Amino acid sequence: MTVNPSGWRPSTPANASAEMPTVTGNRALQLEEPLLFEIGDTETTGVDFDCAPAKAGAQTGSLPSQGYINGLARTAPIGLAGLTEPEAVRHYTRLSRQNYAIDLGLFPLGSCTMKHNPRLNEKVARLPGFADVHPLQPQETVQGALEVINTLAFWLLDLTGMHGVAMSPKAGAHGELCGLLCIRAALEARGDKREVVLVPESAHGTNPATAAFAGYRVENIPANAAGRVDLDALKSRLGPDVAAVMITNPNTCGLFEPDMKAISDAVHAAGGFVYCDGANFNAIVGKVRPGDLGIDAMHINLHKTFSTPHGGGGPGSGPVVVSEALSPFGPLPYSARYADGSFKMVEEEGAAEEHPHAFGRMTAFHGQMGMFTRALAYILSHGADGLKQVAEDAVLNANYILRSLEDVLDAPFAASGPCMHEALFSDRGFSGGLSTIDLAKALIDEGFHPMTMYFPLVVHGAMLVEPTETESRASLDQFIAALRSIAERARAGDESLKGAPYYAPRRRLDETLAARKPVLTYRGPVAASEAPTPNEVGDR
Ligand SMILES: *Cc1c(COP(=O)(O)O)cnc(C)c1O
Repeated sequence: MTVNPSGWRPSTPANASAEMPTVTGNRALQLEEPLLFEIGDTETTGVDFDCAPAKAGAQTGSLPSQGYINGLARTAPIGLAGLTEPEAVRHYTRLSRQNYAIDLGLFPLGSCTMKHNPRLNEKVARLPGFADVHPLQPQETVQGALEVINTLAFWLLDLTGMHGVAMSPKAGAHGELCGLLCIRAALEARGDKREVVLVPESAHGTNPATAAFAGYRVENIPANAAGRVDLDALKSRLGPDVAAVMITNPNTCGLFEPDMKAISDAVHAAGGFVYCDGANFNAIVGKVRPGDLGIDAMHINLHKTFSTPHGGGGPGSGPVVVSEALSPFGPLPYSARYADGSFKMVEEEGAAEEHPHAFGRMTAFHGQMGMFTRALAYILSHGADGLKQVAEDAVLNANYILRSLEDVLDAPFAASGPCMHEALFSDRGFSGGLSTIDLAKALIDEGFHPMTMYFPLVVHGAMLVEPTETESRASLDQFIAALRSIAERARAGDESLKGAPYYAPRRRLDETLAARKPVLTYRGPVAASEAPTPNEVGDR
């Protein structure tokens, strides 16, 4: 792999009209693709079978075959555009080529842990016994699937040093809700009506959102100058109204919270519980056990640490591990160590005797089977020693990026020592009104997905870079060279950065307008006079 020498400049077209126009709008192998509604029509279809004759009760069980639910039957076609099969295949294939993915290149999105998903996991998840399993199958036919869930549960408890685990939550934020509902159930069981959840500034944004959704009043705890939770401010706010503290560790500044045990002790002494956002467990897996830090509940994003695919709306999976104090309240199905020394999963049937205080369920069934299979394949193929190396390499790669760029990019916490799995920079020192967004857009021209921008909020113009452990030295060097060259241009006030990206299928969109006034329905063909230029299609 070649590395662009730093200082290399893309040959930015001075003015867009000087570019060679093409008849099709395609630019070499970068193909334009109109909306389905602009190329399809209501007459065309890729399916040429006759409709099956309606049979009363067939397939849909007790639903009547006509009229469905009284009065709600469709009376007129809804006018969806259709394409022939080859046109449909090309439409979606072209769109997919405009997408960036972890299988294309380094995806430095901080906090999101976009790492390579080993194909071995995919192979295992596609075995018919796993891939075709149905949640309503008779129990005796799904014992293997249940064993996979239970074995994974056992590994998660071992790695975290916790007591029990709810495997069913379907994403990180869903896991947060599960943990807070456990905490609420534990408080209610002792007749305690605490209503405040404390969330440090360095927490992930889902934490305050979850606490508010669960009905708690959220209060902020400031960060100290080193980007960590201000322990004294936290201690002085603790009291009989505080139900829980939600701490992201490693936090969103990419830093480990070294006072975690002291925080837990203080929260427990004040009668509250400690929720830890463990989405980024990849930085500490095999190195630190959250159970040893006094944590009561923590979700683990299988789709981050344990390398199940995510992005593009793919399914997540956010098992929640809990302490002995919270364990009686975990939702069904629930896996834990029981008084008789056994480790098992309790379902609805056995709950009355074995797990009577469950707060309820998070999902109808057991959770994301495909993610469990992939995560277990990942864990077993790494082994305990391999998982430890995952954390070490993720941290090493992030520090390599931090130290390679701190001379051209402001790194607000670099002086306080090594970072964890992600490196944090800011746009301090850019000239000519250039900011984080200009650098991020220029990265697209260099063929990289941008890093996380303007987050965490505690750092002005933040850029959070998470390389993960699956990047090679060569790929890190290429990324560093690209970022270094753009950073140098930003420091020099290179105005052309304000026009980036120059080479993407679309130029810079008005993101505020798109967020405030999203146009979600197709308004029909647009008159030529008001037809958007290709760069304005974000508005449709
Ligand atoms: C990704 C992430 C979450 C949310 O996880 P989802 O699966 O997207 O709901 C929460 N906290 C942190 C620190 C994260 O990185």
